[in-house]
Amino acid sequence: MRNLPSPSAPSRENKRMATLDSKLTAVVGDRTAKALRDLFGYVTISDLLHHYPRRYLVRGELSDIAELVEGDEVTILAEIYSATSRRLHARKGNILEVVVTDGTAKLSLTFFNQAWREKELKVGRQGLFAGKVGVFNGKRQLAHPDYELIADGGDVDSAVEGFAGKYLPMYPASAKLPSWKIAQCIELAIGALDEVPDFMPDWIRDKYGYPSLHQALVQLHNPVDLDSAEKSRQRITFDEALLMQLLLLSRRRELKGLAAVARPEHDKGLLRDFDALLPFQLTGGQIAVAKEIAEDLAQPHPMHRLLQGEVGSGKTIVALRAALTVIDNGGQAALLAPTEVLAAQHLRTIEKLLGPLAQGGMLGAQENATQVSLITGSQSATARRDALAKAANGEAGIVVGTHALLGEHVEFQDLGLIIVDEQHRFGVEQRDALKKKAIHPPHLLVMTATPIPRTVAMTVFGDLDVSTLRELPLGRAPITTHVVPVLEKPAFLERAWSRIREEVVQGHQAYVVVPRISATESEDADLEFLMGETANSMASVEELGPELQSGALSGLKVAPLHGRLSAEEKDATMRAFTNKEIDVLVSTTVIEVGVDVPNATVMVVMDADRFGVSQLHQLRGRVGRGTSPGLCLLVTSALAQSPARARLDAVAATLDGFELSRIDLEQRREGDVLGVNQSGSKSHLRLLRVLRDEHLIEAAREDASTVLDTGLEKHPLLAAELAQLQVDSAAEFIDKA
Ligand code: ADP
Ligand code: MG
Repeated sequence: MRNLPSPSAPSRENKRMATLDSKLTAVVGDRTAKALRDLFGYVTISDLLHHYPRRYLVRGELSDIAELVEGDEVTILAEIYSATSRRLHARKGNILEVVVTDGTAKLSLTFFNQAWREKELKVGRQGLFAGKVGVFNGKRQLAHPDYELIADGGDVDSAVEGFAGKYLPMYPASAKLPSWKIAQCIELAIGALDEVPDFMPDWIRDKYGYPSLHQALVQLHNPVDLDSAEKSRQRITFDEALLMQLLLLSRRRELKGLAAVARPEHDKGLLRDFDALLPFQLTGGQIAVAKEIAEDLAQPHPMHRLLQGEVGSGKTIVALRAALTVIDNGGQAALLAPTEVLAAQHLRTIEKLLGPLAQGGMLGAQENATQVSLITGSQSATARRDALAKAANGEAGIVVGTHALLGEHVEFQDLGLIIVDEQHRFGVEQRDALKKKAIHPPHLLVMTATPIPRTVAMTVFGDLDVSTLRELPLGRAPITTHVVPVLEKPAFLERAWSRIREEVVQGHQAYVVVPRISATESEDADLEFLMGETANSMASVEELGPELQSGALSGLKVAPLHGRLSAEEKDATMRAFTNKEIDVLVSTTVIEVGVDVPNATVMVVMDADRFGVSQLHQLRGRVGRGTSPGLCLLVTSALAQSPARARLDAVAATLDGFELSRIDLEQRREGDVLGVNQSGSKSHLRLLRVLRDEHLIEAAREDASTVLDTGLEKHPLLAAELAQLQVDSAAEFIDKA
């Protein structure tokens, strides 16, 4: 077996006839083609050529083992000295440790759950090994290094000489198809490939000095130097960004081209009356955003706007003003909320804010007053019939509801505006289901309190314009957050409960948030498996509630709230809490989004490490909504220095939701950000990383916009590529977000 490609290896005499769409069977043979398909799902040459090297082994950079420094990316030439594998006790799996030597010093290589490598990593074999130097138990090591073995009995010097000046690509590989075998297949494919037509417009290529598509594919797999490999990688990453932005922008232009009813602001009407009633002044941010929305509503094309704003930044009022504008123009607004608790709260809040303006139909009501109605899945038949009638005959200017709003029986007289609260719980399909209830395409306002970086917004919500509320209303007291490490400082937990008592004595209220409803829940089976017994000790509403009631919080009115309660129970509990009949709510994350009780000032989050960074930020936004300072205590048994503690410390250290969502996104896999698994072979985003490639995405956005301005039809190849992307159910990765 000869693994290192020989410089003189005769390249197979292939007539260069293949295209990117040619089947792999034609160039690598049936067996290998089958392996490529089984392992990676690759069928065409294009699929294979988009299997990118993770790194290159570089001859000029061979290092001496003795001189390796922790953190360095190195390539060494060494001989295998020993190889041992053992099972792990703590968790499932095995570890393979291979010690290599260059004659003077030794280095260990470790592989987790890759015992199959033991077969080829035989004592005495030589090879090139590459990776990042780490230190474990005082020993330097490479974890999961890439390597290329030199043929048994091969002449090392000549093999390494042959490799001189070459950059050996290292591919994501497997036992069946090791990296060198994939390299061979790719070499064959490139050898067979006819000149690849380039879909990138010349002016874009020239602007960035990118290689042609053909050059880029060749250089990525077989670079003359690392610079050209990098340039090629950039080019192909840019392709992904460009196509994605083209898709999003063209979809957006399509939407903008639709006809909608313009609903401009008027000098007289509900909106003006409402503004006169408001007990406070709008913040600068609210005014600016309101203006953007008013301008959109005044257009004869549908608004598609995302309103992102910090928790408590006052999005509801902005949305309500938009609804009133539409009502002043004879239309209706639907407000879609993610939970029954939230829908019920929105109804209460809106009725309260509108006061007499929501008393339409009542005796002696103001002449232009409207009505707000609620449609949820669990309401009584009478309430529902009444709400449905008012939506259908137009009496209800605002219809608030949960998913039930999407139901077949729900009809509107003239639905002019859809407001979606907390976008992340609704998909595009659901938005569309509501849109179908309108005569003309309605305006759309999507609100989210999970602020996301601009490029992510551009990627995930690329078909929406974005408005941002950064400012919190004046006079809002700040929230202080502390981490309570129960294992190190058990007394701190006692202190947390007494803080709650102190606040209640002062007339305030508190939340205790726990990760699950009951101790016996099986939905955490995965977690329990992973975490061992710790999951069993996780706090639950059903245990902690009574425990607090009879212990640390005895004498206070403690009540549970969670998703398994009936809608009436939930609503009654929230009402009682709002009316200060309950001091402490022991709750799951049902209170995560939007719940607004300004009198609540403390929140204790149990097992806080079980929640995501953005989620914790959302949760603590429930306190400090009034004029008294808010306090959030993150209780955890995660140890100091652990990644879990680092996340909690980050939450405690900043109130900037944008920064936290960044931390959140960096820790999640990109696929989660976009709502799909991007690791699949057919993914169209293989190199692009939304956070890392911000500049590139912004540049691509601009170029995509120019392409569309000047006419996509001028670039038939690009248009075809885009059409392909659309066909590949590519829209899926945006829709599912
Ligand atoms: P969110 O953006 O989290 O949805 P809300 O719309 O629920 O925030 O507003 C939070 C609280 O701030 C509400 O009680 C609301 O009445 C109040 N509020 C909104 N705008 C202002 C303002 N300009 N001045 C003072 N309070 C405001
Ligand atoms: Mg809200």
